[in-house]
Amino acid sequence: MMESFDLAVIGGGILGAACAREASLDGRSVVLLEAGDFAGATSGSSSKLVHGGLRYLEQFEWGLVRESVRERADLLRTANHLVQPLDFVLPLLPESRHGSLSTNWGLHLYDALAWPRGIRPHLPLSQSEIEALLPGIRPDGLRSGFRYTDAVMDDARLCLAVLSDARSLGCALRPRTRVEGLSMQPDGSWLLQVDRSRSASNVRARTVLLCLGPWTDAMLQRWGLQGEDPLLSPSRGDHLVYPDWGIRHAVLLPEPGSDRIFFVIPWKGQTLVGTTEDPWSPAEGTPLPRSVDRIQSWVERFFPGNPHRPFAAFSGVRPLAHAPGKSLQVASRRHRRQEIRPGLHALVGGKYTTFRAIAESCRPLWGSDSVSRSAGRLLPGAFESPEHRVETARVLETLRLPPESAARWLERYGCLAPTLEDSLREAGDCGLQGPGRIQGAEVLHAVRQEWATSLVDVVVRRTLDAWRPDRGRSFLPVIRTLAHSGSLPWNADAEESALEEWILPRSVPR
Ligand SMILES: Cc1cc2nc3c(=O)[nH]c(=O)nc-3n(C[C@H](O)[C@H](O)[C@H](O)COP(=O)(O)OP(=O)(O)OC[C@H]3O[C@@H](n4cnc5c(N)ncnc54)[C@H](O)[C@@H]3O)c2cc1C
Repeated sequence: MMESFDLAVIGGGILGAACAREASLDGRSVVLLEAGDFAGATSGSSSKLVHGGLRYLEQFEWGLVRESVRERADLLRTANHLVQPLDFVLPLLPESRHGSLSTNWGLHLYDALAWPRGIRPHLPLSQSEIEALLPGIRPDGLRSGFRYTDAVMDDARLCLAVLSDARSLGCALRPRTRVEGLSMQPDGSWLLQVDRSRSASNVRARTVLLCLGPWTDAMLQRWGLQGEDPLLSPSRGDHLVYPDWGIRHAVLLPEPGSDRIFFVIPWKGQTLVGTTEDPWSPAEGTPLPRSVDRIQSWVERFFPGNPHRPFAAFSGVRPLAHAPGKSLQVASRRHRRQEIRPGLHALVGGKYTTFRAIAESCRPLWGSDSVSRSAGRLLPGAFESPEHRVETARVLETLRLPPESAARWLERYGCLAPTLEDSLREAGDCGLQGPGRIQGAEVLHAVRQEWATSLVDVVVRRTLDAWRPDRGRSFLPVIRTLAHSGSLPWNADAEESALEEWILPRSVPR
């Protein structure tokens, strides 16, 4: 069987999702094919920041920073359930690369580039104010600092929300569908051979856009389409997940022994500590033990006496556009679009934050030159107004959830939270009660509405329970019950071992 489309997008990270949505908004017939789970690669392993990129000012990337803060403002409105403002503290320490004057100047510029978009301007902080905001920070040498505002996101769910919008516009979405090969047809269209074990039909498209992230060069090579130079200069970032330290502000700190920074971020009830821009080779997998030790040693240096230990870790590979002769820190975060052959293009680089603008810039590929309709368009789940949020919370009360679950559902599903009522009822009919009934509803919703095909998909990228100390294991009895009642096509025992296999390399021994 063969299906034909105007555009085929290969790769279901944020860039593929955004381009599929943009072309669907332009009325094109679009298919998106993803080898694994949506947002299962870099787009689910980012540092979760929707940010202008303060440090890119040092490279005079003013255009990129301006575009990023504009997109940050757009996302704070259009994905207001998944993207929230987050205050950052920038303490000035003996290890800091910049003094008070130049940091203040940079922050003024950062504010000016964001003007007039409603984010609070930066503020100077005294030593005692910093100590109050960051309990446990090392006091020696701490002079003063600054507070400024960026934003934090749920990266995997934001990608799912963009895909959900694309689906509502008629886009065909194919998770777990690996593209094995590409060939140009005599009429100039492209034939995509897909993994036949997963999909019954091949796909033909007039235009193909590769959004393969870190796999771009490897896939082009495999398909015999590589050019002289690679398209990527990939870099790696590792994050440790700690139980909540009780800090409510993110912190930027100097990485000892280098001119880079690392950050501490309060995220979904846990604390993330992360770094980016280490060199990467394809042989490397999950976080290396030396990265774990290195990051933990920085924590001990800047937060001496911090009793918390990480329980999990994750890594991501940044598909930076190839920048010969430049270090990974100064390589531009701009995206690059490359024509590989007529009708076949690759998109690499960029930041998560600017996904919509990047997709907008690709519109000539599918012949659109009118004004894009994606800016300002609410993503599924976003609240239209503060009153809409209050009203949704009121409707949710009728489901009689415990307050903590209701708050989590509002944050996760936004105005769509009340639509889980049917799943809640079905979970109850399967014999689940109390917290298990709520988890059961989340699993059923993830499978039926959010393309989840395994428990790992559910707890890693839909509910984020894999990033809590229990690592999502409390879902195991729930899926056993649902599977037993015939509500899930899963073998619960296989799911249990798959979850353990996923957890093991990402656990940090305490
Ligand atoms: C550690 C780290 C931290 C970061 N932090 C931030 C941040 O805080 N803020 C920010 O704005 N940006 C951040 N970024 C950058 C941002 O996350 C990436 O630029 C973005 O997620 C890349 O998305 P992508 O769609 O290009 O790639 P990916 O998300 O990797 O998607 C590529 C997809 O292609 C699929 N694929 C590969 N081969 C095939 C095939 N043959 N058939 C079908 N599918 C295939 C893969 O399965 C994958 O899902 C960070 C990056 C890293 C690495």
